[in-house]
Amino acid sequence: MCKPSTIAIDGPAASGKSTIGYYLAQRLAYLYLDTGALYRAVTWAALQQGLPIMDEACITRLAEEVEIDVLPPAVEDGRQYTVTLAGVDITWAIRTPEVDRAVSPVSIYPGVREALTQQMRRIAAQGRVVMVGRDIGTVVLPHADLKIYVVASAEERAHRRLLDRTQQGCAPDFEQMLQEIRRRDEIDSGRAAAPLRPAADAVMFDTTSMTKEQMFDAVEQLVDSFACDSGG
Ligand code: C5P
Repeated sequence: MCKPSTIAIDGPAASGKSTIGYYLAQRLAYLYLDTGALYRAVTWAALQQGLPIMDEACITRLAEEVEIDVLPPAVEDGRQYTVTLAGVDITWAIRTPEVDRAVSPVSIYPGVREALTQQMRRIAAQGRVVMVGRDIGTVVLPHADLKIYVVASAEERAHRRLLDRTQQGCAPDFEQMLQEIRRRDEIDSGRAAAPLRPAADAVMFDTTSMTKEQMFDAVEQLVDSFACDSGG
């Protein structure tokens, strides 16, 4: 059977895109790249070094110089991959509320996007890759064989994030989580450079009332129905 070689999955925060992407990559034995991890790593480095997030030139220089790697999971602690910065494992450090708050402002800068997009394209050049993000189908891999755009209601996404945080031992507030999700949606969709939006040829996927198993079944059907003559 013919399979898509490059799969682009986009959508807003906590829509289910990473869950779907990771599942597909495992299933097809493809490389999995969660591109949000790269933006988070740059943001974490900026916060760590005490750099002003609003200083575009400074943050862009950091993105051009910083040495980020996304590797297969080195530790069995529920992670999908290991992220290192200059060799230091920062996989969980990039998932804090501080990074959540600062990452969308960092992602606005065209120079930051350019530096990270180049890294993503290098990684995808060999094919057999599932790449997850906000602008993969529209900008990073506009010729991807299969594009999926994942959505879910803001309330459902806030609820999912709340569960994640609770599992990490934090006690977040639902209303605050919802506000945070909406604020990030607004910044990601409203920015001039590579805004969050579906590619014209993306398959829309609403996960609001789907269980994980339902998501997996639906996405598997989608891949199985992929025809090489229509997709590449
Ligand atoms: O997916 P995740 O929530 O980890 O992404 C963090 C942030 O990185 C997003 O809110 C967005 O601002 C940015 N991002 C992006 N383009 C991508 C992936 C992530 O702008 N391809």
